[in-house]
Amino acid sequence: MRFDTLAIHFAQDPDPSTGALVTPIVQTSTFVQESPGVHKGFDYTRTNNPTRSTLERVLAALEGVDHCAVFASGLAAENAILQALLRPGDRVVTTPDLYGGTFRLLRQVFGPLGVTAVQADVGDPEALEAALLGARLLWLESPTNPRLQVYDIAAACEAAHRHGALAVVDNTFASPVNQKPFELGADLVVHSVTKYLAGHSDLIQGAVLARDPAVFQPVKFLQNATGAVPSPFDCWLTLRGLKTLSLRVERQNATAFFLAHRLERDGAVARVHYPGLPSHPGHDIAVRQGRGGFGGVLSVELRADAADVRRFVSERRYFKLGESLGGVKSLVCQPATMTHASIPPEERRRLGLPDTLVRLSVGLEDPRDLAEDLEEGLRALPSAPSDLLAAVG
Ligand SMILES: *Cc1c(COP(=O)(O)O)cnc(C)c1O
Repeated sequence: MRFDTLAIHFAQDPDPSTGALVTPIVQTSTFVQESPGVHKGFDYTRTNNPTRSTLERVLAALEGVDHCAVFASGLAAENAILQALLRPGDRVVTTPDLYGGTFRLLRQVFGPLGVTAVQADVGDPEALEAALLGARLLWLESPTNPRLQVYDIAAACEAAHRHGALAVVDNTFASPVNQKPFELGADLVVHSVTKYLAGHSDLIQGAVLARDPAVFQPVKFLQNATGAVPSPFDCWLTLRGLKTLSLRVERQNATAFFLAHRLERDGAVARVHYPGLPSHPGHDIAVRQGRGGFGGVLSVELRADAADVRRFVSERRYFKLGESLGGVKSLVCQPATMTHASIPPEERRRLGLPDTLVRLSVGLEDPRDLAEDLEEGLRALPSAPSDLLAAVG
Protein backbone atom coordinates (compact mmCIF):
# COMPACT_ATOMS: atom_id res chain seq x y z
CA MET A 1 0.00 0.00 0.00
CA ARG A 2 1.17 3.50 -0.81
CA PHE A 3 0.76 6.57 1.41
CA ASP A 4 -2.75 7.68 0.38
CA THR A 5 -4.06 4.12 0.46
CA LEU A 6 -2.50 3.50 3.88
CA ALA A 7 -4.31 6.54 5.25
CA ILE A 8 -7.64 5.09 4.14
CA HIS A 9 -7.24 1.31 4.38
CA PHE A 10 -4.37 0.35 6.68
CA ALA A 11 -5.67 -1.30 9.89
CA GLN A 12 -9.14 -0.14 8.80
CA ASP A 13 -10.88 -3.22 7.42
CA PRO A 14 -14.64 -3.21 8.00
CA ASP A 15 -15.55 -4.04 11.60
CA PRO A 16 -15.95 -7.86 11.68
CA SER A 17 -18.84 -7.86 14.16
CA THR A 18 -21.05 -5.27 12.41
CA GLY A 19 -19.64 -4.72 8.92
CA ALA A 20 -19.22 -1.00 9.68
CA LEU A 21 -17.14 0.52 6.88
CA VAL A 22 -15.61 3.15 9.17
CA THR A 23 -13.63 2.40 12.34
CA PRO A 24 -16.10 2.61 15.25
CA ILE A 25 -15.71 4.98 18.19
CA VAL A 26 -15.31 2.60 21.11
CA GLN A 27 -16.40 5.04 23.79
CA THR A 28 -15.92 2.93 26.91
CA SER A 29 -13.71 3.23 29.96
CA THR A 30 -13.38 -0.47 30.62
CA PHE A 31 -13.79 -3.88 28.96
CA VAL A 32 -15.54 -6.91 30.37
CA GLN A 33 -13.23 -9.85 31.03
CA GLU A 34 -14.17 -13.52 30.70
CA SER A 35 -12.14 -14.37 33.78
CA PRO A 36 -9.43 -12.30 35.51
CA GLY A 37 -6.84 -11.32 32.91
CA VAL A 38 -8.67 -13.09 30.08
CA HIS A 39 -9.95 -10.51 27.57
CA LYS A 40 -9.94 -9.54 23.90
CA GLY A 41 -6.72 -7.49 24.13
CA PHE A 42 -8.24 -4.46 25.89
CA ASP A 43 -8.83 -4.06 29.60
CA TYR A 44 -8.98 -0.33 30.42
CA THR A 45 -9.00 2.69 28.06
CA ARG A 46 -6.11 4.53 29.73
CA THR A 47 -3.98 1.49 28.91
CA ASN A 48 -5.41 0.82 25.46
CA ASN A 49 -8.50 1.38 23.38
CA PRO A 50 -9.46 -0.05 19.96
CA THR A 51 -10.11 3.34 18.31
CA ARG A 52 -6.84 4.72 19.67
CA SER A 53 -4.85 1.65 18.70
CA THR A 54 -6.20 1.86 15.13
CA LEU A 55 -5.06 5.49 14.99
CA GLU A 56 -1.64 4.53 16.38
CA ARG A 57 -1.23 1.85 13.70
CA VAL A 58 -2.20 4.24 10.90
CA LEU A 59 0.13 7.01 12.09
CA ALA A 60 2.98 4.54 12.43
CA ALA A 61 2.35 3.32 8.87
CA LEU A 62 2.34 6.90 7.54
CA GLU A 63 5.69 7.67 9.19
CA GLY A 64 7.04 4.29 8.07
CA VAL A 65 7.69 2.61 11.45
CA ASP A 66 6.00 0.08 13.75
CA HIS A 67 5.52 2.01 16.99
CA CYS A 68 3.27 4.91 17.91
CA ALA A 69 1.67 6.19 21.10
CA VAL A 70 -1.00 8.88 20.90
CA PHE A 71 -1.35 11.45 23.69
CA ALA A 72 -3.83 14.07 24.86
CA SER A 73 -1.69 16.86 23.34
CA GLY A 74 1.56 17.45 21.51
CA LEU A 75 3.14 18.67 24.73
CA ALA A 76 1.98 15.56 26.60
CA ALA A 77 3.75 13.54 23.88
CA GLU A 78 6.91 15.64 24.25
CA ASN A 79 6.76 15.34 28.03
CA ALA A 80 6.60 11.55 27.73
CA ILE A 81 9.75 11.49 25.60
CA LEU A 82 11.65 13.77 27.96
CA GLN A 83 10.46 11.98 31.09
CA ALA A 84 11.20 8.57 29.59
CA LEU A 85 14.69 9.34 28.36
CA LEU A 86 16.18 12.02 30.63
CA ARG A 87 17.61 11.91 34.13
CA PRO A 88 19.04 14.68 36.35
CA GLY A 89 22.32 15.92 34.89
CA ASP A 90 21.34 15.10 31.31
CA ARG A 91 21.81 17.56 28.49
CA VAL A 92 19.48 18.30 25.58
CA VAL A 93 20.56 20.16 22.45
CA THR A 94 17.86 21.93 20.45
CA THR A 95 17.53 24.08 17.37
CA PRO A 96 17.62 27.85 18.06
CA ASP A 97 14.02 28.30 16.86
CA LEU A 98 11.79 26.15 18.99
CA TYR A 99 8.07 25.86 19.57
CA GLY A 100 7.38 28.11 22.60
CA GLY A 101 5.76 25.31 24.59
CA THR A 102 8.75 23.03 24.03
CA PHE A 103 11.06 25.79 25.24
CA ARG A 104 8.90 26.29 28.35
CA LEU A 105 8.71 22.55 29.06
CA LEU A 106 12.48 22.17 28.84
CA ARG A 107 13.35 25.32 30.80
CA GLN A 108 10.62 25.52 33.42
CA VAL A 109 9.64 21.89 34.00
CA PHE A 110 12.78 19.87 33.23
CA GLY A 111 15.25 22.63 34.17
CA PRO A 112 14.41 22.45 37.89
CA LEU A 113 14.72 18.64 37.66
CA GLY A 114 18.37 19.00 36.66
CA VAL A 115 18.11 18.80 32.86
CA THR A 116 20.14 21.32 30.88
CA ALA A 117 18.79 22.50 27.54
CA VAL A 118 21.06 24.35 25.11
CA GLN A 119 20.07 25.93 21.83
CA ALA A 120 22.75 25.37 19.21
CA ASP A 121 23.24 26.42 15.62
CA VAL A 122 22.43 22.98 14.26
CA GLY A 123 23.33 24.16 10.76
CA ASP A 124 26.97 24.80 11.75
CA PRO A 125 28.75 21.42 12.02
CA GLU A 126 31.39 22.69 14.47
CA ALA A 127 28.86 24.39 16.76
CA LEU A 128 26.72 21.26 16.68
CA GLU A 129 29.65 18.97 17.51
CA ALA A 130 30.61 21.17 20.47
CA ALA A 131 27.06 21.33 21.78
CA LEU A 132 26.61 17.57 21.49
CA LEU A 133 29.50 16.76 23.83
CA GLY A 134 27.91 14.76 26.63
CA ALA A 135 24.39 15.25 25.27
CA ARG A 136 21.69 12.65 25.71
CA LEU A 137 19.18 14.03 23.24
CA LEU A 138 19.14 16.16 20.10
CA TRP A 139 15.76 17.86 19.62
CA LEU A 140 15.21 19.04 16.05
CA GLU A 141 12.57 21.18 14.45
CA SER A 142 12.86 21.56 10.70
CA PRO A 143 11.29 23.62 9.32
CA THR A 144 11.35 25.61 12.53
CA ASN A 145 8.66 27.66 14.16
CA PRO A 146 8.19 30.53 13.39
CA ARG A 147 11.00 31.43 10.96
CA LEU A 148 10.87 28.23 8.88
CA GLN A 149 14.59 27.62 9.16
CA VAL A 150 15.66 24.37 7.59
CA TYR A 151 18.36 22.04 8.88
CA ASP A 152 20.02 19.02 7.34
CA ILE A 153 18.23 16.39 9.41
CA ALA A 154 20.37 13.47 8.18
CA ALA A 155 23.62 15.26 9.03
CA ALA A 156 22.33 16.33 12.47
CA CYS A 157 21.08 12.82 13.31
CA GLU A 158 24.38 11.35 12.23
CA ALA A 159 26.27 13.78 14.50
CA ALA A 160 23.94 12.95 17.42
CA HIS A 161 24.53 9.23 16.95
CA ARG A 162 28.30 9.72 16.88
CA HIS A 163 27.98 11.30 20.33
CA GLY A 164 25.73 8.54 21.63
CA ALA A 165 22.68 10.83 21.68
CA LEU A 166 19.21 10.03 20.38
CA ALA A 167 17.68 12.29 17.72
CA VAL A 168 14.10 13.48 18.08
CA VAL A 169 12.40 15.29 15.20
CA ASP A 170 9.29 17.39 15.76
CA ASN A 171 7.63 16.76 12.39
CA THR A 172 4.53 18.85 13.09
CA PHE A 173 5.21 21.55 10.50
CA ALA A 174 6.11 19.24 7.62
CA SER A 175 3.78 16.29 8.28
CA PRO A 176 4.76 12.93 6.76
CA VAL A 177 3.41 14.19 3.43
CA ASN A 178 6.33 16.59 3.10
CA GLN A 179 9.05 14.93 5.19
CA LYS A 180 9.86 11.44 6.51
CA PRO A 181 12.37 11.91 9.38
CA PHE A 182 12.94 8.19 9.97
CA GLU A 183 14.35 7.91 6.46
CA LEU A 184 16.81 10.66 7.49
CA GLY A 185 17.98 8.88 10.65
CA ALA A 186 15.60 10.07 13.40
CA ASP A 187 15.17 7.80 16.44
CA LEU A 188 11.91 9.39 17.55
CA VAL A 189 9.35 11.57 15.82
CA VAL A 190 6.91 13.72 17.74
CA HIS A 191 3.79 15.38 16.37
CA SER A 192 1.32 17.90 17.52
CA VAL A 193 -1.52 15.93 15.89
CA THR A 194 -3.61 19.04 16.62
CA LYS A 195 -2.15 20.62 13.48
CA TYR A 196 -1.95 18.99 10.03
CA LEU A 197 -2.68 15.38 10.99
CA ALA A 198 -6.10 16.10 12.49
CA GLY A 199 -6.28 19.12 10.24
CA HIS A 200 -9.56 20.82 11.16
CA SER A 201 -8.70 22.86 14.29
CA ASP A 202 -11.23 20.91 16.32
CA LEU A 203 -9.10 18.86 18.73
CA ILE A 204 -5.84 18.74 20.69
CA GLN A 205 -3.66 15.62 20.36
CA GLY A 206 -0.06 14.46 20.14
CA ALA A 207 1.91 11.43 19.02
CA VAL A 208 5.28 9.82 19.58
CA LEU A 209 6.67 7.44 16.96
CA ALA A 210 9.73 5.21 17.08
CA ARG A 211 11.42 2.54 15.02
CA ASP A 212 13.28 0.74 17.81
CA PRO A 213 11.04 -1.04 20.36
CA ALA A 214 13.68 -0.46 23.08
CA VAL A 215 13.43 3.31 22.55
CA PHE A 216 9.65 3.19 22.33
CA GLN A 217 8.93 0.98 25.34
CA PRO A 218 9.59 3.59 28.09
CA VAL A 219 7.40 6.11 26.23
CA LYS A 220 4.59 3.58 25.94
CA PHE A 221 4.99 2.77 29.64
CA LEU A 222 4.59 6.48 30.52
CA GLN A 223 1.49 6.81 28.34
CA ASN A 224 -0.27 4.41 30.71
CA ALA A 225 1.60 5.32 33.89
CA THR A 226 0.99 9.08 33.67
CA GLY A 227 -2.28 8.84 31.77
CA ALA A 228 -2.28 11.77 29.31
CA VAL A 229 -4.39 9.82 26.80
CA PRO A 230 -6.82 11.19 24.20
CA SER A 231 -10.52 10.28 24.08
CA PRO A 232 -11.70 7.60 21.63
CA PHE A 233 -13.83 10.27 19.93
CA ASP A 234 -10.81 12.51 19.32
CA CYS A 235 -8.92 9.51 17.92
CA TRP A 236 -11.82 8.88 15.56
CA LEU A 237 -11.76 12.52 14.42
CA THR A 238 -8.06 12.19 13.66
CA LEU A 239 -8.64 8.97 11.69
CA ARG A 240 -11.22 10.94 9.69
CA GLY A 241 -8.81 13.85 9.17
CA LEU A 242 -5.97 11.55 8.06
CA LYS A 243 -8.00 10.28 5.10
CA THR A 244 -7.61 13.69 3.44
CA LEU A 245 -4.15 14.50 4.83
CA SER A 246 -2.25 14.43 1.57
CA LEU A 247 -4.98 16.27 -0.37
CA ARG A 248 -5.04 18.98 2.27
CA VAL A 249 -1.28 19.33 2.63
CA GLU A 250 -0.66 19.36 -1.14
CA ARG A 251 -3.16 22.19 -1.55
CA GLN A 252 -1.70 24.06 1.43
CA ASN A 253 1.80 23.62 -0.05
CA ALA A 254 0.61 25.08 -3.35
CA THR A 255 -1.21 28.05 -1.82
CA ALA A 256 1.64 28.91 0.55
CA PHE A 257 4.11 28.72 -2.36
CA PHE A 258 1.91 31.07 -4.38
CA LEU A 259 1.51 33.56 -1.52
CA ALA A 260 5.21 33.46 -0.59
CA HIS A 261 6.23 34.42 -4.12
CA ARG A 262 3.73 37.26 -4.25
CA LEU A 263 4.58 38.60 -0.80
CA GLU A 264 8.28 38.54 -1.57
CA ARG A 265 7.68 41.15 -4.27
CA ASP A 266 5.55 43.38 -2.08
CA GLY A 267 6.98 46.70 -0.96
CA ALA A 268 5.30 46.52 2.45
CA VAL A 269 7.07 43.26 3.24
CA ALA A 270 10.67 43.42 4.44
CA ARG A 271 11.28 39.67 4.32
CA VAL A 272 9.49 36.41 3.62
CA HIS A 273 10.53 33.22 5.39
CA TYR A 274 9.46 30.24 3.27
CA PRO A 275 11.67 27.25 2.38
CA GLY A 276 10.10 27.05 -1.09
CA LEU A 277 11.66 30.38 -2.09
CA PRO A 278 15.06 30.13 -3.79
CA SER A 279 16.06 33.15 -1.65
CA HIS A 280 15.56 31.08 1.53
CA PRO A 281 18.95 30.05 3.00
CA GLY A 282 17.73 26.48 3.55
CA HIS A 283 16.07 26.09 0.15
CA ASP A 284 18.55 23.56 -1.25
CA ILE A 285 18.37 21.38 1.86
CA ALA A 286 14.57 21.60 1.80
CA VAL A 287 14.55 20.41 -1.81
CA ARG A 288 16.95 17.58 -1.02
CA GLN A 289 15.40 16.22 2.17
CA GLY A 290 11.72 16.93 1.48
CA ARG A 291 9.19 15.16 -0.69
CA GLY A 292 8.41 18.02 -3.04
CA GLY A 293 6.28 20.31 -0.89
CA PHE A 294 7.44 23.15 1.34
CA GLY A 295 4.57 23.32 3.79
CA GLY A 296 1.58 25.51 4.45
CA VAL A 297 3.18 27.95 6.90
CA LEU A 298 5.15 31.05 6.02
CA SER A 299 6.18 34.06 8.02
CA VAL A 300 6.74 37.62 6.92
CA GLU A 301 8.46 40.62 8.44
CA LEU A 302 6.38 43.70 7.80
CA ARG A 303 7.68 47.20 7.24
CA ALA A 304 5.55 48.65 9.99
CA ASP A 305 5.60 49.66 13.61
CA ALA A 306 4.16 47.61 16.46
CA ALA A 307 0.73 49.28 16.34
CA ASP A 308 0.39 48.69 12.57
CA VAL A 309 1.38 45.05 12.94
CA ARG A 310 -1.26 44.61 15.65
CA ARG A 311 -3.85 46.11 13.32
CA PHE A 312 -2.69 43.95 10.39
CA VAL A 313 -3.07 40.67 12.29
CA SER A 314 -6.33 41.72 13.97
CA GLU A 315 -8.26 42.88 10.91
CA ARG A 316 -7.95 40.09 8.36
CA ARG A 317 -11.09 38.66 6.79
CA TYR A 318 -9.99 35.04 6.30
CA PHE A 319 -6.70 34.80 8.20
CA LYS A 320 -8.27 34.60 11.64
CA LEU A 321 -6.10 35.77 14.51
CA GLY A 322 -5.21 32.74 16.57
CA GLU A 323 -2.47 30.43 17.75
CA SER A 324 -2.10 27.09 15.97
CA LEU A 325 -1.73 26.08 12.35
CA GLY A 326 -2.42 23.29 9.91
CA GLY A 327 -6.21 23.51 9.80
CA VAL A 328 -8.60 24.11 6.89
CA LYS A 329 -9.19 27.70 8.06
CA SER A 330 -6.29 30.10 7.59
CA LEU A 331 -4.76 31.62 10.71
CA VAL A 332 -2.45 34.53 11.39
CA CYS A 333 -0.46 35.23 14.53
CA GLN A 334 2.20 37.51 15.92
CA PRO A 335 4.68 35.05 17.48
CA ALA A 336 6.38 37.60 19.77
CA THR A 337 3.15 38.35 21.65
CA MET A 338 1.38 35.01 21.18
CA THR A 339 3.01 31.61 20.52
CA HIS A 340 6.47 32.72 21.68
CA ALA A 341 5.45 35.10 24.48
CA SER A 342 6.89 32.67 27.07
CA ILE A 343 10.40 33.42 25.71
CA PRO A 344 11.86 36.48 27.50
CA PRO A 345 12.10 39.60 25.25
CA GLU A 346 15.91 39.79 25.27
CA GLU A 347 16.11 36.10 24.31
CA ARG A 348 13.55 36.70 21.54
CA ARG A 349 15.69 39.49 20.13
CA ARG A 350 18.77 37.27 20.22
CA LEU A 351 16.83 34.57 18.37
CA GLY A 352 15.65 37.00 15.69
CA LEU A 353 11.96 37.07 16.55
CA PRO A 354 11.02 40.73 16.06
CA ASP A 355 7.58 42.09 16.94
CA THR A 356 7.08 42.77 13.21
CA LEU A 357 7.21 39.06 12.37
CA VAL A 358 3.82 37.67 11.34
CA ARG A 359 3.16 33.96 10.86
CA LEU A 360 0.60 32.77 8.36
CA SER A 361 -0.95 29.30 8.36
CA VAL A 362 -2.56 28.77 4.99
CA GLY A 363 -5.86 26.91 4.93
CA LEU A 364 -7.94 25.54 2.11
CA GLU A 365 -9.72 28.71 1.03
CA ASP A 366 -9.40 29.94 -2.57
CA PRO A 367 -5.83 31.23 -2.90
CA ARG A 368 -7.11 34.39 -4.61
CA ASP A 369 -9.30 35.27 -1.63
CA LEU A 370 -6.36 34.75 0.70
CA ALA A 371 -4.11 36.94 -1.47
CA GLU A 372 -6.75 39.68 -1.50
CA ASP A 373 -7.12 39.50 2.27
CA LEU A 374 -3.38 40.01 2.76
CA GLU A 375 -3.21 42.66 0.07
CA GLU A 376 -5.90 44.70 1.73
CA GLY A 377 -3.95 44.67 4.98
CA LEU A 378 -0.63 45.48 3.33
CA ARG A 379 -2.12 48.43 1.47
CA ALA A 380 -3.37 49.81 4.77
CA LEU A 381 0.19 49.87 6.13
CA PRO A 382 1.95 53.25 5.96
CA SER A 383 4.62 51.96 3.55
CA ALA A 384 5.06 51.40 -0.17
CA PRO A 385 1.84 50.42 -1.98
CA SER A 386 1.61 46.71 -2.51
CA ASP A 387 1.45 45.04 -5.89
CA LEU A 388 0.15 41.72 -4.64
CA LEU A 389 -3.24 41.99 -6.33
CA ALA A 390 -1.72 43.09 -9.60
CA ALA A 391 0.48 39.99 -9.51
CA VAL A 392 -2.52 37.73 -8.87
CA GLY A 393 -4.18 39.24 -11.96
C1 LIG B 1 1.55 23.05 18.53
C2 LIG B 1 2.90 22.50 18.55
C3 LIG B 1 3.35 21.71 19.60
C4 LIG B 1 2.51 21.43 20.83
O1 LIG B 1 1.38 20.67 20.52
P1 LIG B 1 -0.01 20.78 21.33
O2 LIG B 1 -0.87 19.82 20.60
O3 LIG B 1 -0.48 22.21 21.21
O4 LIG B 1 0.26 20.41 22.74
C5 LIG B 1 4.64 21.20 19.52
N1 LIG B 1 5.44 21.46 18.47
C6 LIG B 1 5.04 22.23 17.44
C7 LIG B 1 5.99 22.49 16.32
C8 LIG B 1 3.76 22.77 17.44
O5 LIG B 1 3.39 23.55 16.42
